[in-house]
Amino acid sequence: MAVCRRHGSGETRCSFEFDVALRFSQRRRGSLSALLFRMSQQGYVAAPPFSQAQPGIGGYQGGFGAPPAQPLYGHYGGPPQGFNAPPAGMMKSPPTSPAGMPPSPVSSQYNPSVQQNGAHPQRYASPSAASPPYGQPSQSVYNSMASPAPPTQQLANQMSAMNLGSYAPGAMQSHPPPPTSSVAQQHFQTPAPAMGQPQMHAAPQTPHMASQNQMSPPQSPLTNMPASGQSMGGQPFPGPPPSGQGAFQQHGTGPGAPSGYPQQSGQFGGLMSGPQPGMSGGFPGAPGGLAGPPQKKLDPDSIPSTTQVIEDDKARLGGQVFSTNIRGQVPPLVTTDFTVQDQGNASPRFIRCTTYSLPCTAELAKQCQVPLASIIKPFAKLPENETPLYVVNHGETGPIRCNRCKAYMCPYMQFIDGGRRYQCSFCNCVNEVPVFYFQHLDHMGRRVDFYERPELSQGSYEFVATLDYCKNNKPPNPPAYIFMIDVSYTNIKSGLVKLVCDELKTLLEKLPREDGAEASAIKVGFVTYNKVLHFYNVKSALAQPQMMVVSDTAEMFVPLLDGFLVNYQDSRAVIYNLLDQIPDMFADTNESETVFAPVIQAGVEAFKAAECSGKLFIFHSSMPTAEAPGKLKNRDDKKLVNTDKEKTLFQPQKGVYEQLSKDCVAQGCCVDLFLFPSQYLDLASMADVPSHTGGSIFKYNNFQVATDGEHFLRDLRKDLQKSLGFDAVMRVRTSTGFRATDFFGAIYMNNTTDVEMAAVDCDKAVTVEFKHDDTLSEESGAFMQCALLYTTISGQRRLRIHNLSLNCTSQLSELYKCCETDSLINFFAKSAYRAILNQPVKNVRDILVNQTAHMLACYRKNCASPSAASQLILPDSMKVFPVYMNSLMKTAPLVGSTELSTDDKAHQRLSVMAMGVEDSQLQLYPRLIPLHNVDVSSEAVPDPVRCSEERLSDSGLFLLENGHSIFLWLGQASPPDLIQSLFNVPSLAHLQQEHMFTLPELDNPLSKKVRAIISELLEKRPNSMKLQIVRQRDKLEMLFRQFLVEDKGLHGGSSYMDFLCYVHREIRQLLT
Ligand SMILES: [Zn+2]
Repeated sequence: MAVCRRHGSGETRCSFEFDVALRFSQRRRGSLSALLFRMSQQGYVAAPPFSQAQPGIGGYQGGFGAPPAQPLYGHYGGPPQGFNAPPAGMMKSPPTSPAGMPPSPVSSQYNPSVQQNGAHPQRYASPSAASPPYGQPSQSVYNSMASPAPPTQQLANQMSAMNLGSYAPGAMQSHPPPPTSSVAQQHFQTPAPAMGQPQMHAAPQTPHMASQNQMSPPQSPLTNMPASGQSMGGQPFPGPPPSGQGAFQQHGTGPGAPSGYPQQSGQFGGLMSGPQPGMSGGFPGAPGGLAGPPQKKLDPDSIPSTTQVIEDDKARLGGQVFSTNIRGQVPPLVTTDFTVQDQGNASPRFIRCTTYSLPCTAELAKQCQVPLASIIKPFAKLPENETPLYVVNHGETGPIRCNRCKAYMCPYMQFIDGGRRYQCSFCNCVNEVPVFYFQHLDHMGRRVDFYERPELSQGSYEFVATLDYCKNNKPPNPPAYIFMIDVSYTNIKSGLVKLVCDELKTLLEKLPREDGAEASAIKVGFVTYNKVLHFYNVKSALAQPQMMVVSDTAEMFVPLLDGFLVNYQDSRAVIYNLLDQIPDMFADTNESETVFAPVIQAGVEAFKAAECSGKLFIFHSSMPTAEAPGKLKNRDDKKLVNTDKEKTLFQPQKGVYEQLSKDCVAQGCCVDLFLFPSQYLDLASMADVPSHTGGSIFKYNNFQVATDGEHFLRDLRKDLQKSLGFDAVMRVRTSTGFRATDFFGAIYMNNTTDVEMAAVDCDKAVTVEFKHDDTLSEESGAFMQCALLYTTISGQRRLRIHNLSLNCTSQLSELYKCCETDSLINFFAKSAYRAILNQPVKNVRDILVNQTAHMLACYRKNCASPSAASQLILPDSMKVFPVYMNSLMKTAPLVGSTELSTDDKAHQRLSVMAMGVEDSQLQLYPRLIPLHNVDVSSEAVPDPVRCSEERLSDSGLFLLENGHSIFLWLGQASPPDLIQSLFNVPSLAHLQQEHMFTLPELDNPLSKKVRAIISELLEKRPNSMKLQIVRQRDKLEMLFRQFLVEDKGLHGGSSYMDFLCYVHREIRQLLT
């Protein structure tokens, strides 16, 4: 029983705290370690244990060997790479040469005013006839852009020095891991279930945990750890103080459907709902598992389960309304379906945080090493039952902003002086209220028009931007999409070109449009290319499209302005004609070489000429080896894997692509890249521009229309129809005491504060790290405001504002209680994936393990009540954190395996960098759904089981998906009737190759149900996935098994159980 003081609210509540306790004891050399998992029900008394924190720190740090040499907390020591923001200290330096960028070449190597060397319109003729010798090859200015030296190699010796013990990669990769001590070795080789008494001697056991069978009954397994008495922390969202709380304290709608926020009229008050009853207080009982029968062997169920955590959150909060009226309120998990009611803080769909209670001081932050970060998805899709953002127009003066820090008017501004002035909650500056904006205050001190103004009462809203916010003070033109198709031999032969052209005919009808608009305002243009580029004039007045060829790829320009970017509706007939002709035109090509950088350059030039922003959709198959800027060569070298030079495989080639990214961002030119490689194509370099322009990278290895066509088309359709903003700049402002210091995403940074994205779509997220620069106050909390200036799909300039208020605490227990594992792991994934650009992957893995141990040790030291050192105690909010960390270290970019393709690693690295919390969660803990017992009459998808081989059964059918891959796994003893129902063949043995990528449409309940589940998943995820059907023991099963993340990794990396034991040992070392 715990007494827990709610900071600031002055009330005292009682709640239970439960911890995951994993009692673990080991005998040295030659004998067995014993492992016991049990539940501990610990009492917390606020004052005394917390006060241990300070005195305890000395001993705690002592465990680290090189003591205060832990420079890193959330950091990887290497120099900022590429486009990263320079370190904070450089903030004031002129933004001329961002870290890692070469100085801009003097000449504008892509000078648009360069003479138009030889382009000419021509009738649609065969391309060979259409390619006159265009000018002399001009001397390549690209040569002048000599690659700058790669960032200094800092192998972070101090980092190695701080490694706890030496968690060699071997430890993660193979059994037995190199021992760091006899204890460790002993432990890893023979991890054994625990005994009732920690010191108990056990008889020799086989090394496999699951085979233990001489255990005395452990205490209750941990499967269903109750949550700690998670009172939804914090005080009510302050609103315009001092009286703002009143409105928010009404208990309203409850778990029913939200009544929304229907009008911008004074309706809000009645709709405010207080905290949901189900969301505060403890767990609804402790479901089965706690009192399970005594076990004879170590039960894998006894270590914390991700699927259980997800199910529990669903049971607790699923289907409920989450009102954002409380500061620092921890939202439901991303895996839970819930409805958000914006009542003054941004929806968790837009912003999630690693913790919702920031430590008050930098010292505290350093002590716990919990990274402080937000994951911001500015254009997150809202479900239909949630209100879209309101658009506020403050007229000619533009949005009202603080004079000093330029924060935008928001619910945190405090009106004073009878409403004539307001104090900015970000910088404390007192501002005059403009006359047109004046409003009286009510008796509570709140503006009378509080509910009528979204910017005073909502967490998220938009402002209409004035000309001041537009390039050259001119309103922007509507954006454009250019489709750029590689028509070299490979793509023609594979049928890809025809597939794309056919699809575009229908797809262009579905370009994104404003709500209520009859047609999309987005213009379209078409380019085909191999070694040269072909531009098409598709002006509506033409009877036939016209082609223009540019062969001087060193001086790329766009040979026509009028008729290149057109309105699809107007030019439909000509475009149809063009799309019909392209496949035939190049049918006999034997050109196998391609250019690439000039293709992107052409897009930039086209947007420049049309004075618009937009997106390029590039469909490309091979490494660009033709003589042209951005030409690449094969630099794949498996020998570099696991060496200090492995990082070079992840680094893009410097020079051309770097400059191109800069040009693209300056013009608002986003690049989406669809790759169809049959071998290495240096994806790290080719995807450099997409990954700095808010673009997406899709990859289809060994593309065949028959097996991959549908997969690709689903991706293309989704991608083309996504809602998005163009030419975006994002700034994150914070209240005093902390600030944004680092940014991760498909972004470009020209200085330390402005996050530039040529476009940002509904699935792209930017992860922002925060650091202290002063002390935060528990009373006033912490505020952040994310302002995104962008151009809408119809060409309006807007500001999208997301506000979030967080709690601040001087008590570590409060901080841990408000952590969110899914957000933490998003941050760690992105920071680790960036770190491997500068450091060996082994170092990065070491740091991840260190930090995991450190975070958990700090909790143990300062927050948990005293208990035997043999117990592993995890904070409730982070009880499955280790499984995610272990999974992260086994991902392709980090595992250091020579068996995985360099391009695949680079692809995964870049994809994750742009992910939001939902996607990274799924990526690192896939869903494994049993289908053999599916209830065909129910709408529901069966509950997933843990990602481990032990959960499979020979007679089972399982679906596994992680957002990028989807598998249907068939046990070798699958009942013939199931196989018959799904495939219309009598047994597994009758399955042929053609069955392995699709399920036939059969008219029986099981077939319908399974196909419905698969379609639902495909629909939900940002990427389409290619269904792969694998039989148990087939060769291809390996592909499937690598996603069983609780097991030992196929390419290296330990099992979850082993990792947990290892982390526990590290924690114990830290605590001694
Ligand atoms: Zn201010």
